Amino acid sequence: MSLSVRDFEQVTFCNDEKTGLQAIIAVHSTALGPAVGGCRMWDYASSEEALTDALRLSKGMTYKASISGLNWGGGKSVIVGPASKKTPELLAKFGEFVNRLGGVYVTAKDVGIGSPDLKQIKTKTPHVLGIDGEAKSSGDPSPATAWGVYQGMKATAKHAFGTDSLKGLTIAMQGLGAVSFGMLEHLAKEGAKVIGTDIDPAKIEKAKKQYGITGVGVEEIYDQTCDIFSPCALGSSVNVVTLPRIKAKAIAGAANNQLATDEIGLEVMKRGILYAPDYAINAGGLMNIYHESMVDGGYNHDRAFSHIAKIAQTIDQILTRAKAENLPSSVVADRMAEERVKNARR
Ligand code: NAD
Repeated sequence: MSLSVRDFEQVTFCNDEKTGLQAIIAVHSTALGPAVGGCRMWDYASSEEALTDALRLSKGMTYKASISGLNWGGGKSVIVGPASKKTPELLAKFGEFVNRLGGVYVTAKDVGIGSPDLKQIKTKTPHVLGIDGEAKSSGDPSPATAWGVYQGMKATAKHAFGTDSLKGLTIAMQGLGAVSFGMLEHLAKEGAKVIGTDIDPAKIEKAKKQYGITGVGVEEIYDQTCDIFSPCALGSSVNVVTLPRIKAKAIAGAANNQLATDEIGLEVMKRGILYAPDYAINAGGLMNIYHESMVDGGYNHDRAFSHIAKIAQTIDQILTRAKAENLPSSVVADRMAEERVKNARR
C-alpha cells in the first residue's frame, strides 16, 4: 500500500507542553462516514516514524471498513512515547484534541491503549468506542475477529478444495494469541487438524492441552505439510524467504499486513496459492464495534456475529473476481475497497 500525503483528508499534530502529549491524528478518508480507528501508544524512534505509522494505519482502516461494507471512513491516531509517559492528564488532553475534530475522527483501542485509557479520553470527548464493561459496549474484539477469520477461511477452502468444510484439513497456525485461541475453538469443533507455533512456549503447551494441536518451533511452521497457512502473529510473514517454503494451497489468517510487499501478492498467485486478503478476513473486530454505534438499538451479540459471518461472502467475491480477472486477490481487494469509496464521493 503506497503512501502519498495528497491521499489524506486531514492530519492533525497534537502537542501539549504541560502534559508532554505528542500525538498525531490521521484522517485518511471520510467519504463513507466518520474516520474510525484505534489510538496506538508506542515509543517511536522519531516523529517521522510516528507519522508514517499513523498514515499507513489510517489508510488501512479506510480499506478495511470499505471492503466490509461499513459506512465508516478510515482514521488512526498515535501517541508518541513509552507507556511510562501515560498519565490521566495526557490522555484527557488527547481527548480534547479528538473532540476538537467534532466527530470527524472516532477513537478506540490499539497497541498500548486499553479500556481504562479510553475512559480517561472519554472524559473530554464522546467520540470513543469499544470500552469493555460499559453498557452497550461491543467488548473484547478478539472473539469477533476469530469468528470472522474462521468464516473467511471456510470461504477460502471452498475455492481451494471445493468444499467449505475444514474437517480433516491441516492448518499451520503462526501465533497462538487471543484471536488464535478463538479460532481454535471453531476449528476443533469442525474437526480440522492444527499445527501451531508461538514464540511463547507456554502458549503452545496451552493449545496442545486445550485443543490437541501439534506444536512446532517458530521457524518450522513454514515447512509444515498443510492445507492452509494461517498467519496470526505479526505482519510480513509472507515474504520472499518464507513463500517458497509454504506448502499450503491457501493462506488465511488474522494478522495485519501479511504480505511483506505488494509484489509478493503476485508471487503467491503464481504459485497457485489462494490468499484471503488480510484486511477483509480480519475485519470482524471492526464490524463488531460498528454495531455499538451505527446499528439501531445498539449492540447485540447475535446480530453482530451474524453480520460478521458475511466475511465469507466478501472473501468469496474477492476470490471469484481474482480468478475471473486473473489478478492477485490482494489487488482485487484494493480495487473493490477503492471503488466503494470512489462511488461514495460521486
Ligand atoms: P496477540 O498478541 O494476543 O497474539 C499474537 C501472538 O503471536 C502472541 O502469542 C505472540 O507471542 C505470538 N508471536 C509473536 N511473534 C511471533 C512469531 N514470530 N512467531 C510465532 N508467534 C509469534 O494478538 P491477537 O490479538 O491474537 O492478534 C493476532 C494478529 O491479528 C495481530 O497481527 C493483530 O494485529 C491481528 N488482528 C487482531 C485483531 C483483534 O481483534 N485482536 C483484529 C484484527 C487484526
